[in-house]
Amino acid sequence: MNKRILVTGGAGFVGTHLCRRLLDGGHRVVCMDNFSTGSMHNVAELLNNPAFSLLTQDVNEAVNLEVDEIYNLACPASPVHYQADPIATLKTSVVGALNMLELARDRSIPVLQASTSEVYGDPHVHPQSENYWGNVNPIGPRACYDEGKRSAETLFFDYRRQFGLPIKVVRIFNTYGPHMHPADGRVVANFIKQALSGDDITVYGDGTQTRSFCYVDDLVAGLMAMMSGRPDVTGPINLGNPEEFTIRQLADLILELTNSNSRIVHRPLPVDDPRQRLPDIEKARRLLDWTPSVPLRDGLTRTIAYFKTVREAPVLAAV
Ligand code: NAD
Ligand code: UDP
Repeated sequence: MNKRILVTGGAGFVGTHLCRRLLDGGHRVVCMDNFSTGSMHNVAELLNNPAFSLLTQDVNEAVNLEVDEIYNLACPASPVHYQADPIATLKTSVVGALNMLELARDRSIPVLQASTSEVYGDPHVHPQSENYWGNVNPIGPRACYDEGKRSAETLFFDYRRQFGLPIKVVRIFNTYGPHMHPADGRVVANFIKQALSGDDITVYGDGTQTRSFCYVDDLVAGLMAMMSGRPDVTGPINLGNPEEFTIRQLADLILELTNSNSRIVHRPLPVDDPRQRLPDIEKARRLLDWTPSVPLRDGLTRTIAYFKTVREAPVLAAV
């Protein structure tokens, strides 16, 4: 059945891909975004599709829309962006979630929350499974995001307990791909940009910290599988690629794929930077029949090709 679906943060990196896939599936999409980190460039092509409508609005304002499902993605995701205005980040995470939950409650419709691996903080358990409660510094520079997303999860589960709302909570691990903002400071964007322009590759710390990188198409398939899954599958469910790389390995791979002569230099490790991160995705495999299929090498090749086109479009160079 074709639905009318609200995607908040739909002009951002993940949101753009999600809107496109939902439209391809024959649905109508309402994209709500305040363009704080998203861009009109991301949705320009979608605007030609009569099934797509754009609402330039802050998720912190209450709305009343006739929709059948909500994906709540609105929130800056890069540490550079979310720390630029930490109070706005916390507010978006909590008030935005509350507004979307109220809309879902008014209409008795499912609402999916884009939570994050950051709820595990700098984890003492490895790999991270959903029953780990995390190790988050509540007063550090990352707290606006980590604690904001943790509070949003609390709200989602309280709406479920108090009102029986059909909720879906996914914890997204590092995701990359075309339409990442080249200036958002995330490691994949930084390294590709630096490698393509021959600048130094800035490895923070000694580069032995780890992350696992999920290609955006895999993630979007997981978001949609979650939304269309059994109503009793509320989550939280980890969505991420279960292959772990050190940041130094990522730098070496990007240098190889770009054929770049850039040097690797070291910069101080940011405060509270998690030492290691790797999702346990057993729950997603079992309950959603979901597993990522794009290897890092292939996904990076596609992302590098995108960044080459962006470098030729200077309008995207600044946030
Ligand atoms: P992004 O910054 O590219 O996109 C976020 C979008 O939300 C942007 O278009 C931005 O303009 C919009 N937005 C921000 N605040 C808003 C507000 N108050 N009102 C309306 N719109 C607002 O980030 P992304 O990588 O696409 O992340 C999307 C979601 O997925 C976020 O909720 C993020 O926390 C979550 N997530 C992403 C990753 C990842 O690796 N990309 C990892 C974990 C979680
Ligand atoms: N990082 C790095 N160089 C950069 C940007 C990031 O070494 O130019 C490191 C960062 O310290 C972290 C990892 O790469 O250990 C991932 O950082 P990112 O900001 O992409 O996301 P995070 O997983 O920290 O939210």
